[in-house]
Amino acid sequence: MSNNALANEIQKRRTFAIISHPDAGKTTITEKVLLFGRALQKAGTVKGKKSGQHAKSDWMEMEKERGISVTTSVMQFPYSDHLVNLLDTPGHEDFSEDTYRTLTAVDSCLMVIDAAKGVEDRTRKLMEVTRLRDTPIITFMNKLDRDIRDPMELLDEVETELNMMCAPITWPIGSGKGFKGVYHLYRDEIILYQSGQGHTIQDVRTVKGLDNPELDDAVGDELASTLRDELELVRGASNEFDKELFLEGELTPVFFGTALGNFGVDHMLDGLVDWAPAPKSRETEDGKIEASAPQFSGFVFKIQANMDPKHRDRVAFCRIVSGKYEKGMKMRHSRIGKDIRIADALTFLAGDRALLEEAYAGDIIGLHNHGTIRIGDTFTSGENFKFTGIPNFAPELFKRIRLRDPLKQKQLLKGLIQLSEEGAVQVFRPLANNDLIVGAVGVLQFDVVVARLKAEYNVDALYEHISVNTARWVYSDDERKLDEFRRKAEQNLALDGGDNLTYIAPTMVNLQLAQERYPDIQFTKTREH
Ligand code: GDP
Repeated sequence: MSNNALANEIQKRRTFAIISHPDAGKTTITEKVLLFGRALQKAGTVKGKKSGQHAKSDWMEMEKERGISVTTSVMQFPYSDHLVNLLDTPGHEDFSEDTYRTLTAVDSCLMVIDAAKGVEDRTRKLMEVTRLRDTPIITFMNKLDRDIRDPMELLDEVETELNMMCAPITWPIGSGKGFKGVYHLYRDEIILYQSGQGHTIQDVRTVKGLDNPELDDAVGDELASTLRDELELVRGASNEFDKELFLEGELTPVFFGTALGNFGVDHMLDGLVDWAPAPKSRETEDGKIEASAPQFSGFVFKIQANMDPKHRDRVAFCRIVSGKYEKGMKMRHSRIGKDIRIADALTFLAGDRALLEEAYAGDIIGLHNHGTIRIGDTFTSGENFKFTGIPNFAPELFKRIRLRDPLKQKQLLKGLIQLSEEGAVQVFRPLANNDLIVGAVGVLQFDVVVARLKAEYNVDALYEHISVNTARWVYSDDERKLDEFRRKAEQNLALDGGDNLTYIAPTMVNLQLAQERYPDIQFTKTREH
């Protein structure tokens, strides 16, 4: 393949995820985006209608939810001469490690805000995560067919609460029952909204120019003059779009619309393909790998079990960082230093799992995993190296896990270790006793683990309270000091699922004292895989 053709493939790709608070409209936007991708004939089939909230311990319900949302957890679709990869982040209200790691695999994000509510909790938390890598953010203010808050106030809120400049690209004309459409500031064009067209791609009715008298006919004199006044203000008070600042994650272009009414989603997609970055470089232990590097490379950011309940398989999601995947190619599994031949990677064309002939930087491929692949693993062709930046987080919640049937201890341990390799949960084995401690970042993880242990490993486990407050991974360059620490602090030390030494602290005070007492030991809150 010529360098030019490879560069072309990379340039036309956009890989992004949606961040939002539950109910802001992520699922609905996903449906409409796929509709534009012509991937679905009729939007509305991405996810089964929510059957109430997640019944916390109802595994079947979760499975059903997963079964459907999982096949769509990576979606590829064409849009306007580009190829877009949309990575779904888990829909639970729990903040999960999975979500975080998915955000390491994208190059930009769409932030969806319910315009009646403004910036909400979950969005705040996810934005902190995108900030770590200065991911460019596009904003969609949703639900304009409802009575919303003052648009200027919404922009202010994003600016002050999320510390990001806003550049409105479109501006709403009315809202709720009186929502008439938007004015596109850069096309100097009014795009009119028709209600009741949510399931189709609407015929676009436009009026060229803000001063065009047709505007008054289309939306009424009052709204037209309000719009003209408002825009003077908006132009004076808000930022102009600046691509550099956007790419640095400092400024977000803002679009207004209604996902349910399928209005404005295409304006956002136009922005995405025009401005969002093509596949970006990633850090390795020895420097950056550019997307344009000729050799194939990628990293695993997620492992998903039960993609197909009939086959009970586990699929590792690998983000291609550089080069080209070809069916049957040999790649090197960097951690274990072995070459493997991949004949059956999966692609995710809008919901379908299909066998893949080729894929490029920015794409996600699914590798069948029989227990040899872990989160954070690197695959390369040619030179061997390891990508960095796919962390584990010190859990904040802990429980002791115990069997109802004590004969199955081995099964239990095997299950827990595999689940920890998948990133579903973390497991700690104290050096000083035979306890098994499960650690999680979100509370839902506990229920998932017990349900999966039962379904996949046939073990019946239950939790008991344990007074653990926090955990830290511990390291030292000084072997002697580490040995001494290991002896003296044995009561508080454990091995995690990957045999890494961990300090288990009953209280924060205990942790502080330990840190003061052992200055040569490093205590860390995140661990690189
Ligand atoms: P998610 O939890 O972020 O995936 O949100 P959903 O897409 O499931 O949307 C939550 C609810 O808001 C659903 O009842 C949607 O039908 C509704 N919704 C989504 N977008 C809009 C919109 O633009 N207008 C109105 N009125 N409702 C919307």
